[in-house]
Parts: sequence; C-alpha cells; structure tokens
Amino acid sequence: MLAKCANPSCTTEFKYFRHGRLFEFNLHMNSCYDGFPPQKGAKRELFWLCHDCSRKLTLQCDGGQIVPVPRRAREHRAA
Ligand SMILES: [Zn+2]
Repeated sequence: MLAKCANPSCTTEFKYFRHGRLFEFNLHMNSCYDGFPPQKGAKRELFWLCHDCSRKLTLQCDGGQIVPVPRRAREHRAA
C-alpha cells in the first residue's frame, strides 16, 4: 500500500518510516473522510509523503480523494 510517495508528481519509493511523514485517513468505498469515528466497514489507511514532499506539502481529504496541499505557515513553524 505504501509503495511510493503520495504526491502523484513524485516518484520516490517508500523505504523507511523515519524518512518523510505518515498520514492516516479513513477510507470507505474508495472515498476518504477525516475527523469522524470510522464508519462501519471503513478502514484506516496510511499514506506517506517523502522527505522532500513533506517539507512543502501535507495531505488532506478533499471531496473523497487524498490530495497533497501546501503546508500552512503555522505548520512550518512547528516543524
Ligand atoms: Zn515525494
């Protein structure tokens, strides 16, 4: 499942958990959602951004799809 970076325009292969950043989302019927308890039949899935992508991007669930989005300024400070 974690074959490569979740950024579609990046081809970095997943190798080590300590490189990059992991995200967890609920998936149900091929749609994602976040912020709710898992529905019946939903499963938690891990998504990974490589080190380079995780410095610039984060993942969010948008319209049922996992999409990479630019990180917000306050997340840069926290990192
Ligand atoms: Zn990447």
